[in-house]
Amino acid sequence: MEECVFCKIVSKKLPAFILFENESAIAFLNIRPYTKGHSLVIPKKHHRWIWDIPKEEAAQFFELCQKVAKHLQKTSGNELVYSLTVGEEVPHAHFHIIPNDAVSKFPKALDDVIDEVAFSPELHELAGVLDELIEKV
Ligand SMILES: [Zn+2]
Repeated sequence: MEECVFCKIVSKKLPAFILFENESAIAFLNIRPYTKGHSLVIPKKHHRWIWDIPKEEAAQFFELCQKVAKHLQKTSGNELVYSLTVGEEVPHAHFHIIPNDAVSKFPKALDDVIDEVAFSPELHELAGVLDELIEKV
């Protein structure tokens, strides 16, 4: 889908801090994080809802969700990692993986990277561009 923001991230037409990817899915840091490390996992092919992902792709999609959640458990030092799907903000299936920031213990180096990436002026500017794109959809 040409104008879809997440499809543009998959095709690398829009920048993103990509954490992991496999044949069917990609995981990246949310530019509007609820907490440090808040990540999104999306299928590489455009599907409106998570429930629309064909089973051939769904296994790899959920495998990547699990990989991100386990990674965030390990790096945040906190077993409590929330998972959430709503799907109203961007009409491309996506799953939020959100560490509980109240007790996160990110190593200092990772903490700095997350601050630099998730709270940089460039990404806030990009967030404005994304808002405009989303309003057009
Ligand atoms: Zn899309």
